[in-house]
Amino acid sequence: MQLGNYDIVLLYSGGLDSLLAGAILAKQNLDVLAVKFIHPFSPGLWDNRNNSPEFIHHTDLSDWRASVGLDIIKIPIPDSENDEYFRRIINPRYGYGSNANPCLDCKICFMKRAVKIASQVNASGIATGEVLGQRPFSQRRQAIQLIERDAKVEKKVVRPLCAKHLPPSEMENSGLIDREKLYDFSGRGRFAQMQLAEKLGIRDYPSPASGCLLTDPGYSRRFFDALEHNEFSLHTSQLLKFGRHFRFQGTRIVVGRNEVENNILQKHFSSQKIMLEPISTKGPIALVELSSDDEIVKIAAEILARYCKEKDKKVEIRITQCDKIKCNIIVSPAKPQWVEKYLV
Ligand code: SF4
Repeated sequence: MQLGNYDIVLLYSGGLDSLLAGAILAKQNLDVLAVKFIHPFSPGLWDNRNNSPEFIHHTDLSDWRASVGLDIIKIPIPDSENDEYFRRIINPRYGYGSNANPCLDCKICFMKRAVKIASQVNASGIATGEVLGQRPFSQRRQAIQLIERDAKVEKKVVRPLCAKHLPPSEMENSGLIDREKLYDFSGRGRFAQMQLAEKLGIRDYPSPASGCLLTDPGYSRRFFDALEHNEFSLHTSQLLKFGRHFRFQGTRIVVGRNEVENNILQKHFSSQKIMLEPISTKGPIALVELSSDDEIVKIAAEILARYCKEKDKKVEIRITQCDKIKCNIIVSPAKPQWVEKYLV
């Protein structure tokens, strides 16, 4: 994709802090290209079939970003399971945070990509919306230094929200960015950011909740369980987002939690699994591995029956394998306490 020239590339998460960082720089009449990496751990199904970047010119935006001139490029990451990003997620050099979030390794990969994009668009460096001390794992002073060192971007990164707590970047030293107009925010509070947003006329920003499931305790449990069983892949990273997951005798059993999840499980995952669906009553669908024996399939049917509409009655369940109906079986629902033992 042919891109024009920019002064600076912004690592843009879509949250308030990176929006503010972009707005601060745009106010200094800098041309900012906001790069949003579309990674597999955002909520919803990640579709990498069309792996090409999407560019949005600010005049095509319908919100406040149009008025500050923030062009956006969305880039899917990773390209494959061989990609450094994917390898670092499952085997991080600097460990995980409080859940399955290897933020230091992840940011290093983002920085490395951003540097390449900066060179393509003749930008002088990178900006982020980080605030010193906001996140205990990845936004400490030592963590920031380590990320810059590992990604080989020392002095090339400006953090407009907390720049006054940090040594000046090359862009400040050269006068491209006026350091006096940058900020000294720190810590976990968000009041200063909200005030600045108000001052800049930014009102429709997203809530601070993380858009990364690697910070979610439920997803993280399933992530580590999949790693432990040598099952983690890009495909699995998506499956883990949907349904209740059980581990019985080493095999994963997935049961949808609602109609939306049932549809996703059926449409995107069932062709590579054995699918179970109730036919004598209403209820979710369940998936188990193709290699599962009859005992596992029966257990999956009993777990599924536990989540059907009529919880105490026997349920007739249809078993489909590779999109072909294999048989119907009748089972009694498993006891709730028994089911919970196997929940991941
Ligand atoms: S929260 Fe997720 S996306 Fe953000 S740095 Fe950490 S691992 Fe990466």
